[in-house]
Amino acid sequence: MIGLTTPSTGSGVVIAGGGQAGFQVAASLRQSGYAGPVTIISKEARLPYQRPPLSKTYIKTDATFDSLLLKAESFFDKNAIGFRAGEWVEAIDREARKVQLAGGGHLAYDHLVLATGAANRVLPIEGKDLAGVHQLRTAEDAEELRAGLAGARRIVIAGGGFIGLEVAAALRSLEKDVTVIEAAERLMGRTVSREVSAFFLDEHRRMGTDIRLGTALGAIVGDVDGNGRARAVRLSDGSELPADLVLIAAGVLPNDQLAAEAGLAADNGILVNSHMTTADPRIFAIGDCAAFHSPFAERIVRLESVQNAVDQAKLVARKIIAGDEAADTIEPYRAVPWFWSDQGPFKLQIVGLTAGADHVEIASLGEAGKLVAYCFKGDRLIGIETVNRPGEHMLGRRILAEDLAVARTEAARDGFDLRAHVAALQARG
Ligand SMILES: Cc1cc2nc3c(=O)[nH]c(=O)nc-3n(C[C@H](O)[C@H](O)[C@H](O)COP(=O)(O)OP(=O)(O)OC[C@H]3O[C@@H](n4cnc5c(N)ncnc54)[C@H](O)[C@@H]3O)c2cc1C
Repeated sequence: MIGLTTPSTGSGVVIAGGGQAGFQVAASLRQSGYAGPVTIISKEARLPYQRPPLSKTYIKTDATFDSLLLKAESFFDKNAIGFRAGEWVEAIDREARKVQLAGGGHLAYDHLVLATGAANRVLPIEGKDLAGVHQLRTAEDAEELRAGLAGARRIVIAGGGFIGLEVAAALRSLEKDVTVIEAAERLMGRTVSREVSAFFLDEHRRMGTDIRLGTALGAIVGDVDGNGRARAVRLSDGSELPADLVLIAAGVLPNDQLAAEAGLAADNGILVNSHMTTADPRIFAIGDCAAFHSPFAERIVRLESVQNAVDQAKLVARKIIAGDEAADTIEPYRAVPWFWSDQGPFKLQIVGLTAGADHVEIASLGEAGKLVAYCFKGDRLIGIETVNRPGEHMLGRRILAEDLAVARTEAARDGFDLRAHVAALQARG
């Protein structure tokens, strides 16, 4: 620990959830010299790790779990961060400021951070519990999937969102027969523009994935000899598709029940203000489990990204360190949202929340496999989606952070160069 600034008395900070957000609060508190007790309660019995590689490299290589770790075990000892693995917060006693642990006992807090993440949506369909049916949220899920792939050739993935498509591309590189079924009429419909959906539809088909849009998963069919293994999926049109392995990637639901049971408002996420604070000033919620008003979307959103988890965690650490008196000096949360998704050779990067766009200008830049999509709502640029164009993505982050103007007419111009445009804006001051 370096530069401790507060006395090591009191109950300190208790963090429910040892994922990306929970880990970051603890690390940022210590980096900023917080000296009170910091304890992470982690339902998963593993040190905090990165989830993004799970759907990309981890399932197709023999990478070890250690390669995913955010920090080695020694970091927690060195920084006096308590880590209770395989334990979870079962209830919150707000009056007494303590949490009840599932394994028995209580832990008092001065501040409680809810970083409970999200859980995969379970489809209420026949056959969902058969052997050979997988989901993907945790390292354990990924390891089970990796093991299941060894004897599987025909893979069906239900869900054409980021995770379903990342896995599809990874499994095509292993030469598996892959089918993606998607109930909506386009891929990644909640998160990208129609133009980018169409680009990825073509590219996944080119990679050899069979993509069926407008097709829902009706049921998973077991082996005729009744050994409890999946052998096929039944689609919404009644047809059957043989499958040795099925991955259900149908989105997630926030883990907000704990907060709701403690009387805190939750509606598709724990509701927090622009300082990630719930109605109880001692309790914060951050990351995948938190719902907040985004100035970029101009509505309440819940974001599922590493950037969001990390930036919200840093804000909460600053707020705790500032203390009650100075808490108002902390800037509200208005970090520019950005995301990425690696699908085979394509790096999709999104800055801003582009789902609300009503007009998109595409610049293909004359190179196959690359594009920049400028997404407008009315005349306002609300985000930029890029494929294999990291330079424009980084400029997009700056444009949104500094609220720099890009007019629709400019973006539509042949040969429009974002870098030159930003330089010209700067020169004009
Ligand atoms: C396969 C996969 C690929 C992804 N790829 C990308 C990507 O490419 N780019 C990107 O930006 N994002 C990606 N994400 C999303 C990103 O990983 C999440 O947004 C991020 O992990 C959110 O962090 P979090 O701490 O809020 O939640 P989590 O990481 O889910 O951590 C929450 C933890 O809290 C635990 N918990 C729940 N309830 C309790 C309780 N009551 N007590 C104690 N512990 C509890 C959970 O078990 C979990 O371990 C991906 C996610 C997955 C699953």
